[in-house]
Amino acid sequence: MSGYDYLVVGSGLFGAVFAHEAALKGKRIKVIEKRSHIGGNIYTEETEGIQVHKYGAHIFHTSDKAIWEYISQFAEFNRYTNSPIANYKGEIYNLPFNMNTFNKLWGTVTPEQAAAKIEEQRAVLGGKKPENLEEQAISLVGTDIYEKLIKDYTEKQWGKPCRELPAFIIRRLPVRLTYDNNYFNDTYQGIPIGGYTQIIEKMLNHDSIDVEVSVDFFANKRQYLTEFSKIVFTGMIDQFFGYQLGELEYRSLHFETELLDTANYQGNAVVNYTDSEKPFTRIIEHKHFEFGTQKKTLITKEYSRTWHRGDEPYYPVNNEQNNRLYKAYKALADKEDQIIFGGRLGQYRYYDMHQVIAAALQCVKNEVK
Ligand code: FAD
Ligand code: UDP
Repeated sequence: MSGYDYLVVGSGLFGAVFAHEAALKGKRIKVIEKRSHIGGNIYTEETEGIQVHKYGAHIFHTSDKAIWEYISQFAEFNRYTNSPIANYKGEIYNLPFNMNTFNKLWGTVTPEQAAAKIEEQRAVLGGKKPENLEEQAISLVGTDIYEKLIKDYTEKQWGKPCRELPAFIIRRLPVRLTYDNNYFNDTYQGIPIGGYTQIIEKMLNHDSIDVEVSVDFFANKRQYLTEFSKIVFTGMIDQFFGYQLGELEYRSLHFETELLDTANYQGNAVVNYTDSEKPFTRIIEHKHFEFGTQKKTLITKEYSRTWHRGDEPYYPVNNEQNNRLYKAYKALADKEDQIIFGGRLGQYRYYDMHQVIAAALQCVKNEVK
């Protein structure tokens, strides 16, 4: 046997929280990570004095005080409030959908006027209960906003018509009858000063944790299964089972980063391109997450792609069909005493960071005695 209590596969947030908490309980842990660095998708890297969010914009937000205090042990957070803007064919709108958006689009001034406009436009649904993303969007904000700010962006992001997507995806966004551009409703929000990687480094910094990067579990699956009595697996659950029931669907991403010799490229950290003319979904200007004053700037264009085996799986596609297949994999997983499946890929769930931390803490509580 290995001499370790746990093998943790994946050094993302789930794996790191699990390893840290298990180490605090006196366990010995080995972490393997197939990428060349720790941190999973929250990994940030400094270039030109700017923390670059290498796998897309990450803003921490939660209403759970315990989770906020938990993450704050590992970094100091700034007061960044996410307020992305939408660019539709050169027209600029505030997000999430709020009185500023409605004013720009319709000239409405009072909440009553905006509510009346939405009510008038949602009449096309004839009172039907929304059953897909298109109907949910129209029901929440009406047809104009759906057409300009939702339809094309969503179809670029997910590669499917809005009618074939689940309604919950659009309910992630607040709709407000106030002039408030805060993208989240949560009590706590911010960006860790100096980036996210330090958080994972601190979590994994124990004498009883050994980390190996550039190691893929599947290169030696049989050996790991023989040597470790408990394995926390945060990779893709369908891959773990050799895709024996079929492939789950994921979305992959492609990032193009440029260093520009200008201090301020777009005036905001996140700009969403909501028309179909632009092939990317958003442009991130990293310095604005930390109110940077550097002379140069780094921007990243984010493109959404169909996932094929071998690509990085960034998003689970939680429609009915995939959730059904996941359930079948989950039934297999439940029979495996040796393996604990966790995180966005192991649990095939559209988790945000605070939810991953909560799930990992719960998992440690259940598993590590
Ligand atoms: P991951 O970060 O995916 O970690 C899994 C790790 O396992 C990876 O490092 C992977 O390389 C490794 N691994 C996989 N298979 C193997 C293998 N076979 N062998 C070895 N290692 C393996 N959340 C927010 O709260 N706020 C945001 O603003 C936000 N923005 C996001 C933007 C984008 C573009 C994306 C994709 C996600 C965003 N999230 C955001 C979600 C956030 O990234 C996740 O909730 C969180 O990072 C998930 O952690 P995890 O450990 O489950 O998964
Ligand atoms: N969305 C949209 N227009 C926007 C921003 C978001 O239609 O300008 C929709 C889109 O379907 C997206 C979903 O809302 O997938 C959730 O957005 P969020 O910003 O939470 O997505 P994430 O940051 O997780 O990619």
